[in-house]
Amino acid sequence: MARIVMKFGGTSVADLDRIRNVARHVKREVDAGHQVAVVVSAMAGKTNELVSWVQQMPKVAGASASFYDAREYDAIVASGEQVTSGLLAIALQSMGVDARSWQGWQIPVKTDNAHAAARIIDIDGSELIRRFEMGQVAVVAGFQGIGPDNRLATLGRGGSDTSAVAIAAAVKADRCDIYTDVDGVYTTDPRVEPKARRMKKIAFEEMLEMASLGAKVLQVRSVELAMVHKVRTFVRSSFDDPDAPGMGDLLNPPGTLICDEEEIVEQEVVTGIAYAKDEAQISLRRLADRPGVSAAIFGPLADAHINVDMIVQNISEDGSRTDMTFTVPSSDAEKALAVLAGQKELIGYDVVQSESGLAKVSVIGIGMRSHAGVAASAFKALAEKSINIKAITTSEIKISILIDGAYAELAVRTLHSVYGLDKT
Ligand code: ASP
Ligand code: MG
Repeated sequence: MARIVMKFGGTSVADLDRIRNVARHVKREVDAGHQVAVVVSAMAGKTNELVSWVQQMPKVAGASASFYDAREYDAIVASGEQVTSGLLAIALQSMGVDARSWQGWQIPVKTDNAHAAARIIDIDGSELIRRFEMGQVAVVAGFQGIGPDNRLATLGRGGSDTSAVAIAAAVKADRCDIYTDVDGVYTTDPRVEPKARRMKKIAFEEMLEMASLGAKVLQVRSVELAMVHKVRTFVRSSFDDPDAPGMGDLLNPPGTLICDEEEIVEQEVVTGIAYAKDEAQISLRRLADRPGVSAAIFGPLADAHINVDMIVQNISEDGSRTDMTFTVPSSDAEKALAVLAGQKELIGYDVVQSESGLAKVSVIGIGMRSHAGVAASAFKALAEKSINIKAITTSEIKISILIDGAYAELAVRTLHSVYGLDKT
């Protein structure tokens, strides 16, 4: 007997047929004698629709940057998951499975006060465990919790993944299965490189980089939580036949296991290539090379909630002036330029230059820690394709390269093959 948390994303519960199919996956685990909690997303497209309704409402007079009241936004967008949790509970009951739906506040999933982007601070798993012991399946509405103000709070887009991992940690589940519309985590995006392979296993740290750098299988926060609480997390497909052989395998179900690096015996040097398109580069030219300049630049950008990445500062040639370059998502570029213009006096730069339509391609692998020359092979391979590199940043387990957006796909395929990822 094991304790399993099963999470189903929007495409897995897109309509009533899909919900009945999900119920079959759940029943399979229940019939095998496991204790099961299920976390569901809203039906595909539902959250987008709810968000767009909020955005179409008239703006409150005098409202500041955010044009809606985030508490009411949460009250509205959290409703999608409420619907699917009830529907799945009914589908399970009709198959003879004892099931009950749960909203975030009923458990409770306690969050902080950051409405629309709340973080989970505590989950009391005791009632769920009591229900497990009665043989009941809990069907939990993902993406939502309750804030210190006693109001519904949502966890940011894609937050049901985080709900699932957090619940798995709270009830000390043996496994958290994230069911989605792909059958695992691939060495790169298969739409860009058809030779991409599904990984058997990937380490938490690597998955964290993959998710942060553009692979959209899991919300980044969920991977962080899984890593902190060591929740063994499987990414697998709800589109597989629920009763196909091996589907109920406790140790090796089909899919990709995200786990501690100790569990990965045959560690590759490079495990995956991620990419993010629509990056913009901003350069501040000839700013004073003195203490406090970086703080004067990046403080106000952070206050404006602009996500800055790839910061490169030049060594000053004359000891008094330097250049600073960084990237932001293209959608934030205009806002960033406005913030910088407002701080010109304080920062003391000469000119700002910016360029949009760039792509960041990243090579990821824990094995890099102990292998030299990984970066050099990337640079050589890109040079052979005449792809110009605009900026480079590295960490212990990743190399990120900024290039012209038009070459993103070519760069991904080139790097995928250089590191032998297309070989089986
Ligand atoms: N339904 C929410 C969203 O679309 C949460 C989730 O699916 O994870 O963002
Ligand atoms: Mg998702």
